[in-house]
Amino acid sequence: MARLAQTHGLTDVQQEILATVRDFVDKEIIPVATELEHRDEYPQAIVDGLKELGVFGLMIPEEYGGLGESLLTYALCVEEIARGWMSVSGIINTHFIVAYMLKQHGTQEQKEYFLPRMAAGETRGAFSMSEPGLGSDVSAITSKAVKDGDEYVLNGQKMWLTNGGTSTLVAVLVRSDEGHPEGTAPHKSMTTFLVEKEPGFGEVRPGLTIPGKIDKMGYKGVDTTELIMDGLRIPANRVLGGATGRGFYQMMDGVEVGRVNVAARGCGVAQRAFELGVQYAQQRHTFGKPIAQHQAIQFKLAEMATKVEAAHAMMVNAARKKDSGERNDLEAGMAKYLASEYCKEVVEDAFRIHGGYGFSKEYEIERLYREAPMLLIGEGTAEIQKMIIGRRLLEEYRFQG
Ligand SMILES: Cc1cc2nc3c(=O)[nH]c(=O)nc-3n(C[C@H](O)[C@H](O)[C@H](O)COP(=O)(O)OP(=O)(O)OC[C@H]3O[C@@H](n4cnc5c(N)ncnc54)[C@H](O)[C@@H]3O)c2cc1C
Repeated sequence: MARLAQTHGLTDVQQEILATVRDFVDKEIIPVATELEHRDEYPQAIVDGLKELGVFGLMIPEEYGGLGESLLTYALCVEEIARGWMSVSGIINTHFIVAYMLKQHGTQEQKEYFLPRMAAGETRGAFSMSEPGLGSDVSAITSKAVKDGDEYVLNGQKMWLTNGGTSTLVAVLVRSDEGHPEGTAPHKSMTTFLVEKEPGFGEVRPGLTIPGKIDKMGYKGVDTTELIMDGLRIPANRVLGGATGRGFYQMMDGVEVGRVNVAARGCGVAQRAFELGVQYAQQRHTFGKPIAQHQAIQFKLAEMATKVEAAHAMMVNAARKKDSGERNDLEAGMAKYLASEYCKEVVEDAFRIHGGYGFSKEYEIERLYREAPMLLIGEGTAEIQKMIIGRRLLEEYRFQG
């Protein structure tokens, strides 16, 4: 699909990286994705291949062994990967957010210790804010850290950790009242802890348990888990940035780049749905002609392609804004909102174009249909994006009368 979702003004290096990733997606991901997904199997060979390509270190600075690329390059790679299989982009996404938070907020020692290992894909990141009782309302977090000598003791239950089992480093956001007087605003009494652990399930470190995988309707292959902290002892030098009380802001910064990333995933899945729909529409005949020749189907294809183009343009704009050093919460919120809604709609249209066959597990669109809804929820639901967009608009367009 050469025509749609083009990005102008890319450097030679960016073009080369994207061509390599696209080639990998076409040869190594698309042919096996649906089968692995149906078996809910972790795509180890794909992950190993991406490690070799350096994708795990794409945005990590060169001085720490990464490729030092921009958010735009990263997002365009994610778009390509999600076009192949959204779960694979999920494996990279939490790793990327943790690496980004370390780069932006880590102490020098934390950067030197973790980033080279993360760039090589040896240390793999997950991040954890959500709990059984909360997701959108991060300020309601109940998990707690209490200082005990040179360590903190963490207790509480976390929910919905993407890569909870396969990761070896989890950035965990908890309440830490230490040093903060009673009545401090909730977002000023939270701390991000860098929790190292063994991969796998069960007790993966004394005081830390990862029960089994949560069984999901889609987004399979990648493990999503709970995390239980029961007297988990973490040394003070594993507080992200070295000081307590900054965790909420650090996580929100991470989630903001994560939103561009989710937008990119929406773009990739929508592109694949369009590809499948436009191919099928030319093969399937009804009433004596290919269904693509019926105007109703052509209109669907026109709407789908327009949505693919619009979502891609907004995602690229949000990434470029962040790369320029400007605040991009408005653009990232809009891109995430639009790309995820459009993705769901484009997938649904491609599904309808497939008629009854869209319902068969033999057709790739069946998988996409179960994957698209996750994008409406991850990194903040549509309602949360609209709250962010609305607040920012009222700041920008303050009534002067
Ligand atoms: C597959 C998967 C992977 C995930 N991975 C991670 C992860 O790696 N790390 C992590 O920390 N979390 C993760 N999450 C959790 C995800 O971020 C939350 O599910 C999401 O933020 C929504 O929170 P919730 O499920 O608690 O819904 P709730 O917050 O309970 O919201 C329920 C509904 O109410 C709406 N709503 C809530 N508040 C308002 C409001 N003020 N105004 C209007 N409507 C509102 C929401 O939009 C939603 O429609 C994952 C979730 C899934 C499904």
